[in-house]
Amino acid sequence: MEVKTSLLDNMIGVGDMVLLEPLSEDSFLENLKNRFDHNEIYTYIGSVVISMNPYRSLPIYTPDKVEEYRNRNFYELSPHIYALADEAYRSLRDQDKDQCILITGESGAGKTEASKLVMSYVAAVCGKGQEVNKVKEQLLQSNPVLEAFGNAKTVRNDNSSRFGKYMDIEFDFKGDPLGGVISNYLLEKSRVVKQPRGERNFHIFYQLLSGASDDTLKKLKLHRDFSKYNYLSLDSAVVNGLDDAANFRTVRNAMQIVGFMEDEVQSVLELVAAVLKLGNIEFKPESRCNGTDESRIKDKNGGLMDEKQETKSLFLMKSVLERAFSYRTVEAKMEKVSTTLNVAQAYYARDALAKNLYSRLFSWLVTRINESIKVTKTRHKVMGVLDIYGFEIFEDNSFEQFIINYCNEKLQQIFIELTLREEQEEYVREVCLWFYISVFNMLYNQNGILAMLDEECLRPGTVTDETFLDKLNTVCAEHQHFESRLSKNSKFLTDHSLPHSCFRIQHYAGKVLYRVEGFVDKNNDLLYRDLSQAMYKANHSLIKQLFPEGNPAKVNLKRPPTAGFQFRASVGTLMRNLQTKNPNYIRCIKPNDKKASHIFTESLVRHQVRYLGLMENVRVRRAGYAFRQAYEPCLERYKMLCKRTWPHWRGPAREGVEVLMADLQVPAEEFSYGRSKIFIRNPRTLFFLEERRRQC
Ligand code: ADP
Ligand code: MG
Repeated sequence: MEVKTSLLDNMIGVGDMVLLEPLSEDSFLENLKNRFDHNEIYTYIGSVVISMNPYRSLPIYTPDKVEEYRNRNFYELSPHIYALADEAYRSLRDQDKDQCILITGESGAGKTEASKLVMSYVAAVCGKGQEVNKVKEQLLQSNPVLEAFGNAKTVRNDNSSRFGKYMDIEFDFKGDPLGGVISNYLLEKSRVVKQPRGERNFHIFYQLLSGASDDTLKKLKLHRDFSKYNYLSLDSAVVNGLDDAANFRTVRNAMQIVGFMEDEVQSVLELVAAVLKLGNIEFKPESRCNGTDESRIKDKNGGLMDEKQETKSLFLMKSVLERAFSYRTVEAKMEKVSTTLNVAQAYYARDALAKNLYSRLFSWLVTRINESIKVTKTRHKVMGVLDIYGFEIFEDNSFEQFIINYCNEKLQQIFIELTLREEQEEYVREVCLWFYISVFNMLYNQNGILAMLDEECLRPGTVTDETFLDKLNTVCAEHQHFESRLSKNSKFLTDHSLPHSCFRIQHYAGKVLYRVEGFVDKNNDLLYRDLSQAMYKANHSLIKQLFPEGNPAKVNLKRPPTAGFQFRASVGTLMRNLQTKNPNYIRCIKPNDKKASHIFTESLVRHQVRYLGLMENVRVRRAGYAFRQAYEPCLERYKMLCKRTWPHWRGPAREGVEVLMADLQVPAEEFSYGRSKIFIRNPRTLFFLEERRRQC
């Protein structure tokens, strides 16, 4: 207890928001800022860690720090992500409780860094020894591999994860890691063919071109020059502080440690090259006698390389590829009908293929890593680490944002359910009622928007984004009518100011306007069968493996599940998995949107504090402390119970109260010291004090 007190005295601002007095949004922000300005990037709300991105490296992750936090109680030292990692790890090892680390926050807030810090802390404090070290290395080195293929430079973050990731680390009974399982969620595959202004494609493309040896590039028939490739945006190809060539070596090395064979690495790079080549295929119209235009692959004249090589590096006969980009076979009533593609459709098919090829490669990488880190012995306990894209509100929001926000809404729901479960029912009713408003049902249950989209996609007849929007409007209008009788807080907002082809949803994090264009297409996520069949013919075992449905022997007429359905199912599984574990929360905050150190943009932070629900979080935690009283009146009232404070205490009132509590041997977990008040958790303690006083 003494350690805590003395540390609290040295503390910048208040280390635990629960002890903030007075509590208001302003004082909350002021405390965050004060601490941030003094390099204290971590602050607690009870056991929740708030993490502010410092945007520069701080000397707080050294081996000495690890030792400092090792085996110490959570509140003993100043707030740190290591304290949370230590608590979670020890609870797993000593109390046999499965843990999950839930990291949320918007893009660039520091989630991925936080997940790596937790992993490296656990790796540092668990057992050593050859076998264990190998497992640890493999687990840690899976990060650079997945980041190379799944991260990209965006306007918000130079190393933005464009996929969601959940990793279970499995431990034996001693608390040593045995291996793990990684799940990936929805890679943003549209990035492969097109990047927003100021952003890049996935790192690996640039890494390969800058870092591979001349020899490797020659074998892959690639040019070093980014500008040769249509799929690589040029306006921000070089990123300050990002050394693509060095990172390429890191990735190659990581792949080796994780257990990729040399020929597998080669195959993977061939696929990366194939995607770049695909992007360079161009089409020209060829007039047909019936007056329509049919697409043909353009001959390269003096272009990159000759045509033969171009198709060769796709491992396909030119005729096969040409056919796949010129025709589309549709099955109608058991009959196959071939229609020709015009130039625009051919480009669309090309991009669809590139996106598919890349995202399947990514999933294959995850599967391959999982094979390496798979646990064969009996596992005992599990620690899950969730690093998933944060809430996204852009100017233009599409299907991807809808899905991402869906997932965040779910996570928020879990956060609320799990944190509130521990708290008093009554308090829940008072403060958090708004959480329970039926937004979740509205969006996510079986009649929710994604389900409606699926229904629409499967309906026979002409289905377009507009028909989907009509359906949405009709159903929601009915719903709203029903809702408005229950609550005024309807979450699907229709109003006449809505731009054409849009709908708006009130998420917990704010209102978001979604443009319906592309929803049906992206949800269908269908690759023309002609394309998968062509890919299956590739003279490349990995490509073949990635397009199993192209195997003519396995023609499956059943429609593959939609993107929305798959995502809904995997998020459902994830949520059920999380609910069986003891949650540990890290809430990441981005201090400014300049990626700059030392800048605290109040409005930006305030917005995040609001939508992360941090104030509610503090209030709920405080409700756990039933009683609070300023130090002076507290000392006045109870000083007679202790010889050292009676009749006069000469010193700060707070110290007097500390002496008093120590003397009365009130257990430390029963109370906490705030800046100006003492917080008592259980009325029992209060009755005890009152009873003693009465007896005096
Ligand atoms: P997110 O995953 O939330 O989008 P990242 O974890 O990728 O964000 O962080 C974005 C960038 O911010 C990192 O690349 C790094 O430069 C910086 N950063 C984040 N957390 C820290 C930290 N604890 N210390 C130093 N820099 C950090
Ligand atoms: Mg990230």
